[in-house]
Amino acid sequence: MPTTAKNFIKRILQHLAARYGRHTRSTHEPELLILMYHRILPGDDPRALSEEPGMIVSPDTLRMHLTTLKQYINFIHLSDWLARKNSGAELPKRACAITFDDGWADNYDFAFPILRELDVPATIFLVADMINTNKQFWPERLAKLMSNIALHHPNQWSLSELDWLKTPTTRYQFTTIPPTQEELSEIIANAKILPDQEIHARIDEIELALQLPAKNSAPSLLSWQQLSEMTSTGLINAGSHTCSHIRLNSSNSSTSLEYEIISSKQKIEKQTGLAVTTFCYPNGDYSAEAQSLVQKNYEGAVSTQSGWNSTKSDSYLLHRIGIHEDIAKDKIAFLARISGWL
Ligand SMILES: [Zn+2]
Repeated sequence: MPTTAKNFIKRILQHLAARYGRHTRSTHEPELLILMYHRILPGDDPRALSEEPGMIVSPDTLRMHLTTLKQYINFIHLSDWLARKNSGAELPKRACAITFDDGWADNYDFAFPILRELDVPATIFLVADMINTNKQFWPERLAKLMSNIALHHPNQWSLSELDWLKTPTTRYQFTTIPPTQEELSEIIANAKILPDQEIHARIDEIELALQLPAKNSAPSLLSWQQLSEMTSTGLINAGSHTCSHIRLNSSNSSTSLEYEIISSKQKIEKQTGLAVTTFCYPNGDYSAEAQSLVQKNYEGAVSTQSGWNSTKSDSYLLHRIGIHEDIAKDKIAFLARISGWL
């Protein structure tokens, strides 16, 4: 089918989903929609240029999402919904909890003013050992490194330290220099077969081989001061997203799981003076052991599985709908995304 016909049909389906989707239905059972955001950045912000497209929503689009949702749904803190559910208290018929993963400084710069203006509560899931530092996540390091090599070291692609990144589909045949965001996403997806610590170590090796100057980039993540300013309003809650953002799969030792799950909660509580009752699994990965430790220490946890939640949902594997600019930049596309249909 020609692309224009496909786009036409997709648009009709989006209109139907926007008009008749789950957000419009009257319901007897309480339902909870949880939206998953990461970074809030204007398209022309330099930080947006070396970031994966699936990570970003612009401030104008976030404002449109929240004002649109207000017509259909009551906002609630995720921790309030869980506390009410666990104590058997009454729950709103249809509620929406906003979440931001990782604790990016741009949440303070661009999301917080909008949340405050529209009086919308939200939870930010923090990586305890990365807050208030200039540490970077490995996908962010890798994306910056690829752009750096493409722009400044184009004759270095044969470096043996880069071999682990090469796959049959990704051999640095970039269509543009620097690589497109889609090309960066593919490299990052391929790298995920290795454990997180090993990816960091291999990126260190490449930087050393290229003799890149020591990292002194501005912090990408929130400071404790920024966080405290936000939590003091009562609008922003802090949840845990581990200490170091490693994926909690079966390759982790019990000691490492305890550190990531329990120490992160203690560190955030010590800094904020507030109880941390919600947890978010990095990359949506969890082993049975990780889940059981989360159950013993939190009131609930969110996954990356897509969909709405009801009172019968597993409180430790709550579903969320991931939102990013490319799939939700107009009202119809956004409503279709949250409809639960498409
Ligand atoms: Zn994350």
